[in-house]
Amino acid sequence: MSRIFNFSAGPSTLPESVLLKAKEELLDWRGTGMSVMEMSHRGKEFISIAEELKSDLIDLLSIPDNYKVLFLQGGATGQFAGIPQNILQGKDRACYVNTGAWSTKAIKEAKNHCEVIVSADSKSSNFTDIADYSDWDVDEDSAYLHYTDNETIHGVEFQDIPDFGDLPLVCDMSSNILSRAVDVSKFGIIYAGSQKNMGPAGVTVVIVRDDLVGHADNKIASVLDYAQQAKTDSMLNTPATYNWYLVGLVLKWVKESGGISAMEQHNKTKADRLYQAIEQSSLYSNPVKQAFRSRMNVPFVLADAELDKEFLSLAAKQGLSSLKGHRSVGGMRASIYNAMPEAGVDALIDFMLEFEKNHG
Ligand SMILES: *Cc1c(COP(=O)(O)O)cnc(C)c1O
Repeated sequence: MSRIFNFSAGPSTLPESVLLKAKEELLDWRGTGMSVMEMSHRGKEFISIAEELKSDLIDLLSIPDNYKVLFLQGGATGQFAGIPQNILQGKDRACYVNTGAWSTKAIKEAKNHCEVIVSADSKSSNFTDIADYSDWDVDEDSAYLHYTDNETIHGVEFQDIPDFGDLPLVCDMSSNILSRAVDVSKFGIIYAGSQKNMGPAGVTVVIVRDDLVGHADNKIASVLDYAQQAKTDSMLNTPATYNWYLVGLVLKWVKESGGISAMEQHNKTKADRLYQAIEQSSLYSNPVKQAFRSRMNVPFVLADAELDKEFLSLAAKQGLSSLKGHRSVGGMRASIYNAMPEAGVDALIDFMLEFEKNHG
């Protein structure tokens, strides 16, 4: 068996120890004689898995008591619709910041439910920048302010939390949750799909402050209603049981690896090394303004796009996979989530230097 370094943006690489643990427990989970896949979600075995999943996430992110932690289906994309339907609370408008492809999608979906005030928009810079908070056009009487903490496609990440007083902040953390410390108490809602930094696809984490629960539009699908899901421990319908288990294993791995602060340090080391290699090169460049460069997704272009194909095929031969940039941006993108080891980033940098020597 040989494992490659997989730089895919999502679904993405998982810790090898998690995969081995899942393999070990696949046929017989802890002497029960069955796989987690085969268990009733109402049985005591699965309930214990579900309880640990929730308590580990609460521990890791220090989630305060006045928040509900939900594990839903439908992805972050489902929440693009679910959020306005849950928390407009009779208001007719909400503020959205447009910092890239995912914000754009969230805005499009929200427009089915309310008027959207685009508080800031970096489309004119091809999403390489974030406007100063003081220049944002925020309506404090709107229902909430939504932003995308890390733009997975454009490689743009917020480095701090905007503050607009009592206006609830709603944040898509799909591609950087668990990658660095975050003060959950500053948010009305944090949500994230699992397939970037928490496990395989299929689980959507929603962390929602109590005062935003219980006000859903009466036409909302029950599975999206935070109040109904909270009341049933996210088991209003059959949950994605095996995926919950796998996310649980990833959370244990984060804990055993030293928790969020260790992840933060590890991610900073990897990203700093890769950006430095790009900065020092005359073949590679990253268009994102330095202050907003993502620690999770590092897009870069080659000075001569004619070389892209060869770069990708030689990289693949060396076990460096899925480096092709998103079709809307072109060039390359290295996604270096928690589970990407430093050795993977070092191997990528060595390859990039070698390629430049031969083609620069
Ligand atoms: C991947 C991603 C999404 C979409 O997630 P789905 O699970 O496919 O719905 C939304 N927002 C961000 C920031 C993402 O990275």
